[in-house]
Amino acid sequence: MRAREKRKNGNIRLLTVITLLLFVSFSLVTYQLIQKKHAVALAQQKEVEKKEQVQKEKEQAKEQAKREAAAAQKRKKEEEQKKFPQIAPVPAIPAEEKTVYLTFDDGPFPVSMKLLDILDQYNAKATFFMMEPNIRKHPEAVKEMVKRGHAVGMHGVTHDVKQVYRNAQAVVDEMTAGQKAIKEITGHETHLIRTPYGSFPHMTPEYKQKSNEAGFKLWDWTVDSLDWKFRSPSYVNHVMNHVSPGRAQGNGEIILLHEKPATAQSLPTLLKNLQEKGYTMRALNENMKPYQLRP
Ligand SMILES: [Zn+2]
Repeated sequence: MRAREKRKNGNIRLLTVITLLLFVSFSLVTYQLIQKKHAVALAQQKEVEKKEQVQKEKEQAKEQAKREAAAAQKRKKEEEQKKFPQIAPVPAIPAEEKTVYLTFDDGPFPVSMKLLDILDQYNAKATFFMMEPNIRKHPEAVKEMVKRGHAVGMHGVTHDVKQVYRNAQAVVDEMTAGQKAIKEITGHETHLIRTPYGSFPHMTPEYKQKSNEAGFKLWDWTVDSLDWKFRSPSYVNHVMNHVSPGRAQGNGEIILLHEKPATAQSLPTLLKNLQEKGYTMRALNENMKPYQLRP
């Protein structure tokens, strides 16, 4: 009876120990599992954080690159502007002033520099309507014109009536080619044009509309110097006989001249005469309403 009791007690102890051991083992395993899970979660979080950091750095680098590109662009623009001459501001014209707008067609030519020097001597500004091939041949003259405060405009590419006036688009194309050349050389976009032999009769209403739509300002003249016909120095007298103080004081006289050595030869005489009669020589500008022979 005692022995049986003893065995029973022993069994109970053993069972308790086993249970305890099982419990401890289970707890240990569970603990380890939890630890492991925690470690994995931590690693994952670190991974996410790392990815976020990389992404952030990438974005910062991108922003930095963008800022640097913008700064480089700005520097480049400033350099370009330094390279290109600045357009003179449009002056206000006193009401009583007698204004003459000298315009020179067909250049630039080697004579352009001489013309510019003469204009400087008489404090005169002018407007040059130029041929695209000549613009490309004498880019320094074009730059000098802008630098010295003169206006520049287009006179086309071919100067051939059959070519330039073959349709409305041909006129626009020729003027656009000249505009592009001037922009490349001076950095400035001009819209002033004079079509070869003037707007009448070639520029029909349809042609004019197309030219206006392209943004061009079509200019004719009020006084034709006929410098090509009279040569030097007779054209000077012809101009002086035709310039009207009344018209000059109103909208201004627009004098048609050409970039020719013979014209240059008597230009000092013309400018001297104009000055003595109280005329101021100015350059046309984009804000003016273009004058046309037959509106
Ligand atoms: Zn011409």
